[in-house]
Amino acid sequence: MSHRLQGVIFSSPLSTFPFRFSQFNSSSRVWLYSGRKDLEMAECVSSKASEVVVGDPDLLDKKIAAIRLAGPQKLQVIADFDATLTRYWISGSRGQTSHGLLQQGNPEYDARRQQLYEYYHPLEFSPTIALEEKTKLMEEWWGKTHSLLIEGGLTYEAIKQSVASALISFREGVVELFEFLEERDIPVLIFSAGLADIIEEVLRQKLHRSFKNVRIVSNQMVFDDDGRLISFKGKLIHSLNKNEHAIDMAAPLHEQLGDIDGPTTDIASVKNRINVLLLGDHIGDLGMSDGLNYETRVSVGFLNDNVENSLDNYRNAFDIVYLNDAPMWGVVKLISQLCSTGE
Ligand SMILES: [Mg+2]
Repeated sequence: MSHRLQGVIFSSPLSTFPFRFSQFNSSSRVWLYSGRKDLEMAECVSSKASEVVVGDPDLLDKKIAAIRLAGPQKLQVIADFDATLTRYWISGSRGQTSHGLLQQGNPEYDARRQQLYEYYHPLEFSPTIALEEKTKLMEEWWGKTHSLLIEGGLTYEAIKQSVASALISFREGVVELFEFLEERDIPVLIFSAGLADIIEEVLRQKLHRSFKNVRIVSNQMVFDDDGRLISFKGKLIHSLNKNEHAIDMAAPLHEQLGDIDGPTTDIASVKNRINVLLLGDHIGDLGMSDGLNYETRVSVGFLNDNVENSLDNYRNAFDIVYLNDAPMWGVVKLISQLCSTGE
């Protein structure tokens, strides 16, 4: 798959792209493209048009040019997981999140975690609570949730079963994106305030392979010999601190997957990669690059819901905004453009 797609992309460089950002003059603020040509090339089926919004095409052009000039060895990808790599809608229903899908095999504890969600979730998005206070509340919420998981006797087997029966799937093109990046040794850091072990299991069950360049920066569980959760590793990562300050938490994904060929991504070298492609679905996801002294950042936002009210904010915050639960093909094109060494 990767070779076929690679061939398509590189046999005719930029001119074959469905859009080139430089072709849009500054008055073109919004455009549509069907992506049909790409989807045909990638042999995928999708009937829905993807809407792409760029607030400042000139600025985006400049950023793309700067990243291309510095080269792929200076680039890293930072991605949120839920509703960014995964789809927001699946067959007309809301896709589940990595946290939401977990059934710990103990209804009482599932209900108690749900009660915590109902109490704290509105506080997380409250515009009237100061950041410092909110951070404390998030620590409280995550701490209590983790305690319930331990107390309720969560097992690794329950995670496997939860993922197997969950309504969760990746956006089309995620595998091709990871493969493209892997072939060029470009690290992908998946930042999540959820649970690394669940995300790993979702990757394992849904993608059926590992990527040596992919690392998950999230809360990691420790299981005993019977596969029962006994503790969490290191510092708690919640929705307000999931960024490169937390990078030391990252463990190589393939370690858990038993894939021992090839070197892991060196975290120290990630810090030297001063250009970033950031993928997120919340404006707060832009904070994922905090802690990295980046030079150029291209940010891509997936606006999945409440489009009418949020589009202005998203267009101002992200360089590129995808609507309609778009597949990842546009990002695959973008990354190949970022990595191309010129015409
Ligand atoms: Mg998300």
